[in-house]
Amino acid sequence: MSADSTQNCNLWRECRFEGIQSQFALQEYLQELVRIDRSNVERLICAPDGQDEEIWQFEHLRLLCLDLNYLVIQLEPECNKESCPEMKADEWLYLCAAHIQPQACCAIDYAFHTLDGATSLLNSNKYFPSRMSIMPTSLKHFQSIARRLYRIFAHAWYHHREVFDSFEVRRVCPIRRCNYTAHWVLLTMCKRVLERGVFV
Ligand SMILES: [Zn+2]
Ligand SMILES: [Zn+2]
Repeated sequence: MSADSTQNCNLWRECRFEGIQSQFALQEYLQELVRIDRSNVERLICAPDGQDEEIWQFEHLRLLCLDLNYLVIQLEPECNKESCPEMKADEWLYLCAAHIQPQACCAIDYAFHTLDGATSLLNSNKYFPSRMSIMPTSLKHFQSIARRLYRIFAHAWYHHREVFDSFEVRRVCPIRRCNYTAHWVLLTMCKRVLERGVFV
């Protein structure tokens, strides 16, 4: 086992959900797990024992919005109306749903509009009034948020690989160099959210 791994194991043991006394315990616990090792995807996506999985997904989505803000800021210098006039990921073309009628925004506008929309929805007292439970009628928003956030990652991955890679290394995985972690976490989270088709 490497020195890094040993250090991480010790940190994992120290980080216990039961030890956090706070109204925002799950949020703080998730941030702590991320700080210790973002590359441990399996641990990151599993809600702590006895805790509500939906709230755990909610906290992940909130954190992903924060992370994506950093990515989009790094994309800005090279992702613009000229370089990326359409929101594409590989050959797929996406319309921006942040408007009364979905419209074709350029990729960087799509990213900003989608992030603004997702952030305000997740902070909305109307749809998410409690950090302890999610209203059944609000669960459907998880899917659309996850799907749209994932497209921003996918755009960076397919069209701005260098920016994506440097974001992954510097922002997402400060302890252990591990590419594509955020991509993988989001993919896994999206899959879980989308598998819950009952909420469509
Ligand atoms: Zn672009
Ligand atoms: Zn837009």
